[in-house]
Order: sequence, then C-alpha cells, then structure tokens
Amino acid sequence: TQAPVTVTVTGAAGQIGYALLFRIASGQLIGPDTPIKLRLLEIPQAVKAAEGTAMELDDCAFPLLQSIDITDDARTAFDGTNVALLVGARPRTKGMERGDLLEANGGIFKPQGEAINAGAADDVRVLVVGNPANTNALIAQAHAPDVPAERFTAMTRLDHNRALSQLAQKLNVSITDIKKLTIWGNHSATQYPDLFHAEVGGKIAAEQVEQAWLSDEFIPTVAKRGAAIIEARGASSAASAANAAIDHVHTWVNGTPEGDWTSAAVVSDGSYGVPEGLISSFPVTARDGKFEIVQGLEIDEFSRERIDASVNELVEERDAVRKLGLI
Ligand code: NDP
Repeated sequence: TQAPVTVTVTGAAGQIGYALLFRIASGQLIGPDTPIKLRLLEIPQAVKAAEGTAMELDDCAFPLLQSIDITDDARTAFDGTNVALLVGARPRTKGMERGDLLEANGGIFKPQGEAINAGAADDVRVLVVGNPANTNALIAQAHAPDVPAERFTAMTRLDHNRALSQLAQKLNVSITDIKKLTIWGNHSATQYPDLFHAEVGGKIAAEQVEQAWLSDEFIPTVAKRGAAIIEARGASSAASAANAAIDHVHTWVNGTPEGDWTSAAVVSDGSYGVPEGLISSFPVTARDGKFEIVQGLEIDEFSRERIDASVNELVEERDAVRKLGLI
C-alpha cells in the first residue's frame, strides 16, 4: 500500500461534511490503495456533533481509515495536511449585505490560510466549497504566501456535473458521450456553462440544441439549480456537492482522460482576459497532479459577454475584500 494522505475537512459536522466524510474514508477521494488520516475542524459548538460523525466512521470499519482527529483549532487541523477541503463557511442570511458576508468569511478563511501556510505539507492541495467559494479561496490564498498560489482552488465541479446531466437528458445521450464542457467564471448565478466547445458524439453540442433552449433553459437551469433543490428538498444540496468535491480532488490527483477536460476555479494566469490572480472557473486538464488551463479556445460574442459578466462579479468581490483589508 501507499503512504497515507492526511485530509482536513472544515465544517465537518455540516450536511456536506456528513455526505463527504464516508466517501473520503472509503477511498474514493484519492484512490483505493491510499490510506487516509482524517482531520475534522469545527467551531467549538459543533465539535460534539463532529464526534458523533466520527463514531459512525469508526463503525464503518473502513480498511483505509487510519485515524480521525477532531479539533476547533485551525493550526492543529492543518498541521501536515495534504488535502484541505474548506467546506465550513458563513452562509448568507436574510437581509445580509454582501460586504457583511465577505467580512464574516474573511474571519474564517484568513486564519485558515495562515494555518495552511504555517503547517500544511509541501504538496498541500486546497479546495474551497464554502460560499462565496471563489473569493473565500482568494482570501485563504492571500494569507498563504509560502504555498504556490495554484494550490488554492474553488469548486465549480457541481455546476459542471449539473450541466452534463441537463445536456445528456436533453439529447438523450449518456454522460460519457459528452466531452469538453466548461463552466466559466464565478460559482454563482452569473456562472456561464459553455456548450460551444462541448462535444457530443464528436460534434459541437451547441449545434445540436435550439438556441432558445441553450439561452433560456439550459443556462438558467444550471445556474439556479441550487435554489431549485432547496425548493424541492427543503434543504440545500449536500450529497451532490460532496460528490463534486470528491470528483474535483480525484481529478486533480489522478488526471483528466485524453481528449477531455473538466471545470475548476483556479488562479488565473491572464488567459481569456480573466485578470491575473483571480480565482475563476476555466476549462482545465489535470496532468502529473497539476491543473492546467486549456489554451487557445475561440470565444464568440455570446460567450464573451457571459464570461465577462461573471468575471466582473469576481473583480467586484476581490475589490470589496481588498477594501475590507482581507487580502
Ligand atoms: P453545508 O454543509 O450544507 O454547506 C457548507 C458550505 O458549502 C456553505 O457555505 C454552502 O454555501 C457551501 N456550498 C457550496 N456549494 C454548495 C451546494 N451546491 N449546495 C449546498 N451548499 C453548498 O452547511 P451546514 O450549515 O450544514 O454546515 C456548515 C458547518 O460548517 C457547520 O457545522 C458549522 O459549524 C461549520 N463551520 C465551520 C467552520 C470552521 O471549521 N472553522 C467555520 C464556519 C462554519 P451556501 O450556504 O451559500 O449554499
């Protein structure tokens, strides 16, 4: 067997955490031969609930699970960690201004970035799930100057998976028939799911659907899926968010298949006019444990407008956290 991988999950007692931890412990995050050491970070009042989840993890007798540590201290949680899944965040509550939301999350992601900087393993990979995910990732990254910036990412894989599923149902094809789909921009209602580079059966997906379906149904359905789930389920999506987090890290570590790519919010190198340093969703491949932005795609006017709108929102969020002194 291989060397164990230490995985830290924040907000471990939350509903995404509950859907995530059992899959990590069963070997689905990295692979079936890699032992796992779990570190659970929670706020003090949720530590007891995390201990309950840990009891259930024990009761699964997962062969790969070597240890579970629970703490309310970020330094302890991230010491030596290889994979950090930042799930816990301050949700937007009724009447809350965006500035308040960003500030509350700054209070969470700044110390977590500092703790990662201080103690994480040299190969640490960070995935931010807690919203506003892209900007929370930017805050954490800004406080971890010794960690290569590209190790900080945010999750748009759930949006990607939602788009795959909507398109597969529309064209009555299987998920595996779809390649090269992209989510661009912010993990928010402005995100842009792009079918102009996606391929179904080797042909461009946008050409196989009506333009009206693409702009009036597909894009809003993908962007507003989170709200639709809350409406139907009476609670926000959790298992699908956890699944996407597993997919994101598994792809990052194990790579994308030849002839395909996926979506992840990664640090921009200035590609496609996205300001350098923003953490924005791009088409990415993964090779040798690294994400790379797919280069050279032609962006038509329809896509340009939508990518720019979402990227502009990220610029505004960045400027707002800058003004608050959070980055
Ligand atoms: P969830 O586990 O349901 O969600 C956690 C975060 O994931 C939220 O910020 C949520 O954002 C975000 N998220 C991203 N994508 C999705 C998606 N597709 N569907 C749903 N959520 C998504 O929240 P809970 O309230 O159940 O649990 C949060 C836990 O985090 C609590 O146990 C709390 O104590 C803990 N916490 C821990 C901290 C720490 O470890 N330092 C700090 C803050 C909280 P959104 O709300 O916008 O949907």
